[in-house]
Amino acid sequence: MSELAILGGKKAVTSDPGDMFTWPIITSEDEEAVLNVLHRRAMSGTDITMQFEKEFAKWQGTEYALGFSSGTASLQAAMYAVGIRRGDEIICPSVTYWASCMQVFSLGGTVVFADIDPDSLCIDPKDIEHRIGPKTKAIMVVHYLSHPADMDAIMAIAKKHNLKVIEDVSHAQGGTYKGKKLGTFGDVAAMSLMTGKSFAIGEAGMLVTNSREIYEHALVLGHYERFNAKEIESEDLKPYCGLPMGGYKYRMHQMSSAVGLVQLKHYDERCVEIRKAMNYFWDLLEGVPGIRAHRTNEAEGTTMAGWYCAHAHYVPEELGGLSITRFVQAVEAEGVDGIYAGANNALNTHAIFKTADIYGDGKPTRIAYADRDVRELDSDLPNSEALGAHTFAIPWFKHYRPEIIEQYANAFKKVALNYKELLADDPGNPDNIGGWHFFKHTKKA
Ligand SMILES: *Cc1c(COP(=O)(O)O)cnc(C)c1O
Repeated sequence: MSELAILGGKKAVTSDPGDMFTWPIITSEDEEAVLNVLHRRAMSGTDITMQFEKEFAKWQGTEYALGFSSGTASLQAAMYAVGIRRGDEIICPSVTYWASCMQVFSLGGTVVFADIDPDSLCIDPKDIEHRIGPKTKAIMVVHYLSHPADMDAIMAIAKKHNLKVIEDVSHAQGGTYKGKKLGTFGDVAAMSLMTGKSFAIGEAGMLVTNSREIYEHALVLGHYERFNAKEIESEDLKPYCGLPMGGYKYRMHQMSSAVGLVQLKHYDERCVEIRKAMNYFWDLLEGVPGIRAHRTNEAEGTTMAGWYCAHAHYVPEELGGLSITRFVQAVEAEGVDGIYAGANNALNTHAIFKTADIYGDGKPTRIAYADRDVRELDSDLPNSEALGAHTFAIPWFKHYRPEIIEQYANAFKKVALNYKELLADDPGNPDNIGGWHFFKHTKKA
């Protein structure tokens, strides 16, 4: 009989994982913070949020932090604040969650997709410059699946072409690139803090910047209650105080900011343990054929933050061409729950970015105000479109518990070393691997 569980062998994972995957960690401190908001009827206020912003800015190392109702809203405000207006273009990696770029349509702007680097899975700096056009205003950098983007190269390109840089830190809060915190490289950074993320407080987003001008212009779209003459120094904004210029309402729910204040106190310490656990998992798998770590060299001061949405590289050529879907099935059969093949689909392949006329302009929204057909640049995104067959999710350990981590590592190793037994009835990869979004509620431990 085969050793592989999918062919009738014993499972590699036999222990109950307990709270190994439960996230975020909620204690009575979080509970009391939320109850306090409820008892004070302070759900819709701003006092706790402003306290959270102050602490967050201190932790982030920026002058300003501005809380939002979602990461999506914070990123839209970041785009507006760096000056994205009708007809302007941003360059964004094609592989990311949609909210790194889709809101640009609401500003009358559009998106040019760039390819990803096959190792970091972040925007490939070598694929940016030839996509710059006369209306390109900004580069949207995503530190994807916790891996920092190559900021030295990106900042050099931005400087050379006079482009703004927005960092989407939704996957990598607290991570560092060469010792410097992610979110402090660009003109502005914005991020989701929703429950599925590494910094997880409920529906919420945060924008951070060192620029007073950017901070104020980020505030006017939807923070009407703070858009007042006392707060605002920018002359172009002063005449419009009192009402939200975007017609939006973007303040953070105070149950989220109250949880945020508590989570912030413990966040770095919890991430250190996550990185210890995840690095241990990868150390155990070093040299196993077919799989490679998606991680950084921590000795250079570049870290995987809270290792949000942990993924691996898959190298089918080393496993006789075994399909990634068959590989993942076999690992799941070993007792590994919650993994899947692929990651975010390349956004350029979705019909919204090809044909949708969202605002009734009589032509696709993507090119409604653009001075070139930016869709033509989608034809050359090979790494983004091939990603699904070359990456899979791995367990996202929250605690350093070596015996359990060893069982999980063994599951992957066992499948990789016995791959030949899986080739015979491998149906091959389906046409589409991956998805547009992944959040699922964590099962209660
Ligand atoms: C989750 C996410 C967002 C959007 O944040 P929400 O808080 O869900 O609105 C933006 N960008 C990326 C990369 C994300 O993963």
